Amino acid sequence: MPQMITRKPLEGERPWQQELAKAITDPAVLLTMLEIDQTAFADGFAARKQFPMRVPQPFIDRMVKGDPNDPLLRQVLPLSDELITSNGYVSDPLGEHDTQAPGLMHKYQSRVLLILRGGCAVNCRYCFRRHFPYGDNSPSKQEWQQSFDYIAAHPEINEVLLSGGDPLMANDQQLDWLLTQLEQIPHLRRVRIHTRLPVVIPSRITDALVSRLASSRLKALMVLHINHANEIDNALQRAAQKLKQAGIWLLNQSVLLQQVNDSADALCALSERLFEADIQPYYLHLMDKVAQAEHFDLPLARVQALNKAMMQRLPGFLVPKFVREIAGQQSKTPIDLGFNPFIEQTDLDFFQQS
Ligand code: SF4
Repeated sequence: MPQMITRKPLEGERPWQQELAKAITDPAVLLTMLEIDQTAFADGFAARKQFPMRVPQPFIDRMVKGDPNDPLLRQVLPLSDELITSNGYVSDPLGEHDTQAPGLMHKYQSRVLLILRGGCAVNCRYCFRRHFPYGDNSPSKQEWQQSFDYIAAHPEINEVLLSGGDPLMANDQQLDWLLTQLEQIPHLRRVRIHTRLPVVIPSRITDALVSRLASSRLKALMVLHINHANEIDNALQRAAQKLKQAGIWLLNQSVLLQQVNDSADALCALSERLFEADIQPYYLHLMDKVAQAEHFDLPLARVQALNKAMMQRLPGFLVPKFVREIAGQQSKTPIDLGFNPFIEQTDLDFFQQS
C-alpha cells in the first residue's frame, strides 16, 4: 500500500483543520470584519436557521472591504430573499434524495457518485443540496461495503466521483482507506474528486493527499468549484501547481449566479484566471431550481447571450460547456443557443430547396 507522507506546516501556515474550526458562522461578525453596515442585511440573518452560514478566513481575505456587493460575499451571506418560497423551486431539484445504497448515486452509466461527507467548509447559499438528507447518507465503514459491492457488481462503472457535501472534509487517512478499497475493484479506471474546499482553504492540498492521489492505480482528477476570478489567489494557485506537478488533472465547474458572475466580463475574466492557474474551465451550470435560492437564477435568454459572448471573445478551450442538469436524464443537457453557427447560408439554401 502506498505510504502517506505528512509534513509539519510551514511558519505562518495554519493546518486546514484549524482554518475549518475557525470559520465564521455569524453574519453580523462577517459584515463587521468587512466594515459593512449591517442594517440593510439584518432581516436576512434568520435565513441561516434553514441553512447555516459558514465561511473560512482565507476566503474572507479575498473579499473587498466596504463592498456590500462583493461577488464572493454574495455567495455566502444569508439574505432575506431566502425567506421567499416560489413555485417551481423545490427541495430536491435533481431527484437525488433516494439513493441506490447509503451515500451512493448511480445517475450516469459509467460513473457512480459517492457522498463521502455531509458537511462543507463553506456553505454556498445557492447549493442544490442545501436540503439533502445527509443524515440518511452518512455510511459507517461497514455500510460502505454495500457501495463497494454495488460497484463491483456493475462492470459498466469505470469512474467513481467523490462528492458531498465536500469529500475533502474527510481527512487524508480516511481518503487513503477509501482509495485502497476502490483500487481493489478491477474495472475502475478513474477517481474524480468534486471539491470546493481547496478554493476556500488552499492548505487542504497537503503533501500527503497529493502523493496518495499521484500513487494511486486509479487516474485522479480534481474538479474545483470556482465562480469568480477573485476566488483565485496566490495560495490557491500554488496548491493547483502542486496537483498539476503530481499529474493530477484539474478542471473547474461554476454555477451561473445573478449578481455574482452574470456578465461577459466576469465570466471571461474567470476563464482567463483559471488558465493562468493551470485549471481547465469545464462546466458552467445553470442554477438548479432549489427552494430558497431563486434570487440567484437567470432567464434563459440572458444565459444564451452570455454563452454567445464568451464564444465570440475567447478561444474555444476557455469556454466552459453551458449545461443544466435535468432529473432523470442520462447526461447533462447543453443549453440550446437557438442557432447553429456551423451551418453556412449556402447550406441553408440547399436544405430549403431539397
Ligand atoms: S461547497 Fe458545494 S456542496 Fe458545499 S455548500 Fe457549496 S455548492 Fe454546496
